[in-house]
Amino acid sequence: MADYRDLANLIFPNITETIEDLEKKYPKRNLPEGAKVIRFAPSPTGFLHTGSLFVSLVDCYLAHQSNGIFYIRLEDTDTKREITGSGEALVEQLKTFDIIPDEGYISEEAELGNYGPYKQSDRSHIYNICIKHLIEMGRAYPCFCSAEELAELRKEQEARREIPGYYGKYAKYRDYPIEQAIQKIKEGTPYIIRFKSMGDHNHKVFFHDEIKGDLELTENDQDIVICKSDGLPTYHFAHLVDDHFMRTTHITRGEEWLPSLPIHLELFDTIGFERPKYAHLPVVMKMDNGVRRKLSKRKDEEAAVSYFLEQGYPKYGFIEYLLTIANSNYEAWRNENLDKDYTDFQLSFDKMALDGALFDIAKVANISKERMAYRKAEDLKNEVKEWAKKYDKNFYNHIVQNEDYFVSILNIEREKEKPRKDYAKYSDIYPIISFFYDDVYEQIDLKQLEWNPEISKSEIKQVLEDYVENIELNLSEEEWFNSIKELAVRHGFADNIKVWKKDKTAYKGHVGDISEFLRLSLSGKKNSPNLYYVLQILGKDKVINRIKKVIETL
Ligand code: GLU
Repeated sequence: MADYRDLANLIFPNITETIEDLEKKYPKRNLPEGAKVIRFAPSPTGFLHTGSLFVSLVDCYLAHQSNGIFYIRLEDTDTKREITGSGEALVEQLKTFDIIPDEGYISEEAELGNYGPYKQSDRSHIYNICIKHLIEMGRAYPCFCSAEELAELRKEQEARREIPGYYGKYAKYRDYPIEQAIQKIKEGTPYIIRFKSMGDHNHKVFFHDEIKGDLELTENDQDIVICKSDGLPTYHFAHLVDDHFMRTTHITRGEEWLPSLPIHLELFDTIGFERPKYAHLPVVMKMDNGVRRKLSKRKDEEAAVSYFLEQGYPKYGFIEYLLTIANSNYEAWRNENLDKDYTDFQLSFDKMALDGALFDIAKVANISKERMAYRKAEDLKNEVKEWAKKYDKNFYNHIVQNEDYFVSILNIEREKEKPRKDYAKYSDIYPIISFFYDDVYEQIDLKQLEWNPEISKSEIKQVLEDYVENIELNLSEEEWFNSIKELAVRHGFADNIKVWKKDKTAYKGHVGDISEFLRLSLSGKKNSPNLYYVLQILGKDKVINRIKKVIETL
């Protein structure tokens, strides 16, 4: 009489190692009490999703703040969805946010650590040892059902309003005689391998989730596929083996996995591995016409991290935003610790949102604006330069042409107690400041400047001519403003808006109009950074040249 061992040997004739061998090869880690070993386990399906960045950030912080290990495992067993090269791109993008693994998959050529391989497609041997073990135990078996048969079964179950799936009496090959199974395999009948569940969907399974607390879930009774026809394992089985032998202490993953938790618990218990702790993180959602839904790859540009990188949201703005959706006490902590780095914040499971975190792009912008305002000009210059090099060549060329000049532009009303909050992202900067560069200024159609229609062009011309003749830039801000007031008065303009408002007929305009003439002449725009600094940075020669050109058009 053939037994399970014969079946296992027929399916895996070359597997001679056992689970005990693996236990020895991947020993328990020697880490301090309380250290968490957490992995980020992306599938290389094309790009880094904002929700995945969120998960990886939480993974990395929790592991490091507990003096533990953060590692990356590439889950590439779904070959149909794989996009070549995207695993490496993911690691690179994470690096931009300082999410750097201590261990794991680094690139197609490189990995770090003693618990590998860290790419699932390189781990078949390890999975097969475990599957063989389950077959020997009588808890896994080959299933010879064709796709058509399964579709038929599903239809029948639907018609009878029964729970769909491959379980109990519907699991055709679950109690198939071993001899016959051996016979079919020898004949070359295609098969997959299923787990033999002993669960009952009328029973409950109790579990404590690190975020959601105590849970009561319906027991699994499905004989799920553990090894597909391509020889690769399914996620359910692969994560069991990997998290056990990589000695993960906490499985942090999106809450979309919660419904499969009973399967995973049964797998852990059956094979005899200690259950890890699980923490199901809120899924990043979006409000769409009053309805909450998951951020979608297809519909939402903000679903791709690359969108934020291209737009030039600073990493500290984006990360701080993600921390606000990760832990409810982050903002209060930030307000009390303005001088600290966000990495000093202690992330915790118990402050995690319980259901879908709502993604709010306006808030990403607000936080970024707030934080960017407090950057030192020199630091901001380096960040912007790096960004522009990749995403805006024109801007980059201007920056490197004279870096000190660019720093002085960035430093307008910065590095003071209440800095100006003009920029939410690097791409906001160039449109506001490009007029400082002569070649950009020369592109402006000076004839089209939007002068105040209440004031005649000849008046404007006279004011500008006077300014150029008597120009003096070696002044403090206050002295300079007084000089503008004097200029206003010389030409019949009020030196104060309030005074002008009281009796508009007595004046041609007010001192603000004078500033506007200068601003328009120098920048081509009605809004610009603080005019005093614009003048200081451009310097006397450029100021005179530009205003003279404008005068010619009036
Ligand atoms: N590869 C799975 C995913 O991308 C990972 C889930 C997990 O972290 O366990 O959804």
